[in-house]
Amino acid sequence: MTYSYLSHLYCPKCGTTYDAAQRQQLCECGSPLLVAYDLERLAQERTPEDIAGRRPDLWRYHELLPVQSERNIVSLGEGMTPLILVPVLGADMDIADLHMKDEGIIPTGSFKARGAAVGVSRAKELGVSELAMPTNGNAGAAWALYAARAGIRSTIVMPVDAPKITRNECAVSGADLYLVDGLISDAGRIVGRAVQEFGLYDASTLKEPYRIEGKKTMGLEIAEQLGWELPDVILYPTGGGVGLIGIHKALKELRELGWIDAERKLPRLVAVQAEGCAPIVEAWREGRTESEFFPNSETVAFGINVPKALGDFLVLEALYETNGCAVAISDETLLREQETAARLEGAFVCPEGAAVFAAARKLRAAGWIAAGEKVVALNTGAGIKYPDTVSVEVPVLRPDDSVTR
Ligand SMILES: *Cc1c(COP(=O)(O)O)cnc(C)c1O
Ligand SMILES: [Zn+2]
Repeated sequence: MTYSYLSHLYCPKCGTTYDAAQRQQLCECGSPLLVAYDLERLAQERTPEDIAGRRPDLWRYHELLPVQSERNIVSLGEGMTPLILVPVLGADMDIADLHMKDEGIIPTGSFKARGAAVGVSRAKELGVSELAMPTNGNAGAAWALYAARAGIRSTIVMPVDAPKITRNECAVSGADLYLVDGLISDAGRIVGRAVQEFGLYDASTLKEPYRIEGKKTMGLEIAEQLGWELPDVILYPTGGGVGLIGIHKALKELRELGWIDAERKLPRLVAVQAEGCAPIVEAWREGRTESEFFPNSETVAFGINVPKALGDFLVLEALYETNGCAVAISDETLLREQETAARLEGAFVCPEGAAVFAAARKLRAAGWIAAGEKVVALNTGAGIKYPDTVSVEVPVLRPDDSVTR
């Protein structure tokens, strides 16, 4: 029985192919590399029924993942997160069929665990002993923790302003952690120099080909959880855009396998960004195929503060190919939405997830989302990882005081 149908790596920009059995980073042309599978053979040898009874984690899709041997899997039980109807919030924004894919309950509290699980497992399989990466927090936390479990040494560089908890997650896992008085792009340049100097495996966003394969499983799960049917719209908070590229890749692979209806249009993908960091939104508005560096970026939704993404052209391609769009949300609006989601649904979503709900509300009001459409909103992390986004004033009682109502 073939465990993985991994075939080779290829460049989506210039078409050059690479041997997947070797460690690879970027294409010679500077583009990220993507993973190809032998889908023709897989289509003949497996059906969705083969998967149905497997353990509810992302490794149930191992045929469509790059890890060759089950022995190399580094897992904390990630994946198969709930896809739940949020009817009250949906009614509040006039989207009756609104679903939340909740990544807040995954190990490390953000969907970055998916990319880390698959990326670290594959790195281990390829014999990597030391890796390095820049991060806005959640990715570094996830990679540091999974690397610890794999016995791989990690060097992580993050902005001083990144959420404090992610700093602690890296530190407690024994990573070599550095803070930079700057943005993730500055952290990236520092990591680039360390990679050159010490020969480390570069685990920066899209500089190794396997993180995206882990994030892809969000798309596989959405399809399976909806009985191999697809929603009309999927909204995703977009920083580096890996999750959105991954979901698009997953749906195209399922279509090629014939596991979803080949005639059925793919869901319209929506890239949601913060007004304070909206390079993809600007590029999409102007119909461009690449984004420009967004200067002085700033937002409370730290995971999507990425002023220039290496895979921007793939994000934009996914939007154009699916008739999707890109939307920017202000911090004020997303913080209000975070409160609304908690009050109406008991869902304490992360600021990035709140931006997605705010975008759904905006697109429904504008008529871009039609009445009756099935909409999936990705909540990419737990609200409790960002305790400072909520400020409260609570009365303090003395022991014999009483509550009022
Ligand atoms: C990293 C991150 C994002 C953005 O993910 P990309 O795939 O890089 O676009 C969104 N939300 C949270 C909580 C994140 O940590
Ligand atoms: Zn290339």
